[in-house]
Amino acid sequence: MQLYYHPLYSDLILPERHRFPIQKYKLLKTEIEKLGVSAIHFQEPKKATKSQLSLCHNQTYINNFLNGTLSNKAIKKMGFPYSNELVERTLLSVGASIQSSEHALKHGFSANLSGGYHHAYSDYGSGFCIFNDLAIAAAHLINTEQADTVLIFDCDVHQGDGTAQITQNHDQIITCSIHCEQNFPRNKQESTYDFALPAKTTDAEYLATLEQALDFCVRIHNPDIILYNAGADIYTKDELGLFDVSLNGVYKRDFFTLNFCKQHQIPLMCGLGGGYQRNLSSLINVHKQLFKAAIDL
Ligand SMILES: [Zn+2]
Repeated sequence: MQLYYHPLYSDLILPERHRFPIQKYKLLKTEIEKLGVSAIHFQEPKKATKSQLSLCHNQTYINNFLNGTLSNKAIKKMGFPYSNELVERTLLSVGASIQSSEHALKHGFSANLSGGYHHAYSDYGSGFCIFNDLAIAAAHLINTEQADTVLIFDCDVHQGDGTAQITQNHDQIITCSIHCEQNFPRNKQESTYDFALPAKTTDAEYLATLEQALDFCVRIHNPDIILYNAGADIYTKDELGLFDVSLNGVYKRDFFTLNFCKQHQIPLMCGLGGGYQRNLSSLINVHKQLFKAAIDL
């Protein structure tokens, strides 16, 4: 099992009380190592190139971000203070999702211990998302003729609005978002398929929707690969999510998705997605369910 990770994922200096739990990546890696599975290999990613970013993003936006010429308003919307480390980290995270997707195509499964930056639009960043790694990975696989059809299966509690906007005219990229209607973003975009569930949705309702949605997307579109946003913010205690899904519900979601892909022999790449509990050990435990499911498979 190849997992893509870079120390810079967590090495970003943020102001005290900043909402983003930047330490989670490093802590998660340590927790995965504690599972003691020898088949797990951590791979350092290479940075995404400008031409890869251009597959999904506007040139002016890319240049402004890379050169440090974004407006203060744009930086505020993005959600992170601007720094050279942020640029490095962003390019590594996107590169990791691209390389992880290529690895999954060859070997069946892979994950990036970052990624799932689905609020990034073609010409601006939003909600802690700068470049849309899963949309870029999908466009890259199609552009290099490694895949004909890619399904982005987004199970973060927030809608994949940026992904929907970026891929709206790209008929080889299918987007499916299962999210909470009342959560950010207020103005939802149109994915290929949207499953907007109400606040306080519990395990049974959530899992029934998930199973139907994945089965439907695969039957209709027969994707060559699935890029899965495994957001941990569906968990009931997440401060930025409104679902009532239990820890076991998160495990069942991840296990179902992984097992479905295995049974149908569809390569699967996973991005970590959101997860914002201030209690870091509880947060890591939610993200860890994905890797437990991968090991249990
Ligand atoms: Zn989220």
